Amino acid sequence: MKDRIVTGMRSTGKLHLGHYLGVIQNLVKLQKEYECFFFVADWHALTTKYDKTENLKQDVTDVVIDWLACGIDPDIATIYVQSLVPEIAELNVYLSMLTPQNWVERDPCLKDMAKILRTKQGANSQISYGLMGYPVLMSADIMMFNATAIPVGIDQVAHIEITRDIVRRFNNIYKTDFFKEPKPLLNNCSLICGLDGNKMGKSFQNDIKISDTEEVTAKKMMSAITDRSRMHKDDPGHPENCEVAFKYWKIFGNEEQVKIVKCECEKGLRGCADCKRQLGKVINEKFSPIREKRRYYEEHPQEVDKIIIQGSEKARVEARKILSDVRNIIGMY
Ligand code: SF4
Repeated sequence: MKDRIVTGMRSTGKLHLGHYLGVIQNLVKLQKEYECFFFVADWHALTTKYDKTENLKQDVTDVVIDWLACGIDPDIATIYVQSLVPEIAELNVYLSMLTPQNWVERDPCLKDMAKILRTKQGANSQISYGLMGYPVLMSADIMMFNATAIPVGIDQVAHIEITRDIVRRFNNIYKTDFFKEPKPLLNNCSLICGLDGNKMGKSFQNDIKISDTEEVTAKKMMSAITDRSRMHKDDPGHPENCEVAFKYWKIFGNEEQVKIVKCECEKGLRGCADCKRQLGKVINEKFSPIREKRRYYEEHPQEVDKIIIQGSEKARVEARKILSDVRNIIGMY
């Protein structure tokens, strides 16, 4: 029996290189080693975007297209949409009943979400009842499939603590060992900053999307921050102080390329504009096969729909089994 993994991404629309390096690449690897359930979290998107739903469906589709293009294989992993598995909502109700309010209030996940909301809507933004329940819904996502491992970055380990607490509380209250405590599965993926040196994010307009064309990628690359102390192209540069471009080189270039860039930069033999132009080409080469595959799925939306519907049905089969056991354990009618 393989360990079971559940992980989701909010339906934010087209994904960027930060998602690729920090999450998707890892999922492509994990799908071969674990039984994987990967979902697009459209309910979680609603916790902060309940009043902006015009693109919700397309956003879900775009996430799935990016996953497929990057190599997540629907024949191996179960790909589903959270709202197409309504059993999660029912489990969420049961878990909400037994979760103390202060567990939710202190949860780092909720704090993060509230911070995002304040950034977008201002200091007076209201936290909805649904957003308050975010950590419990996240636990329902995980417990719905009785997952044993959750892929997380080092900064997200605390986010699954509440799920482990809820699992223990459920098992204690109903005198069972039905739910397993999910363990964090740490990933060592590269983190990439945005073109302005801050965290990469769609709303910060500092990202390069997986789906960007070669022209757009090349143009965006030219705006990347370099060594701010360098005034002229033949000034000796300081690659380690090159806030974005050299960091990208270390992620996307090979050892030889990084060595050459460092040496030429330090000797003032390489101008920043040329350096970034070359870097844009390297990134475009790397993403060329992924973008080609992406175009295929964009041109075949029915195929994507089929993958979503079939994956969600497959997830529901498992969810129904677990929910039926949960109802019995609680003693529902
Ligand atoms: Fe950065 Fe390249 Fe400019 Fe050096 S030459 S500062 S590595 S962009």
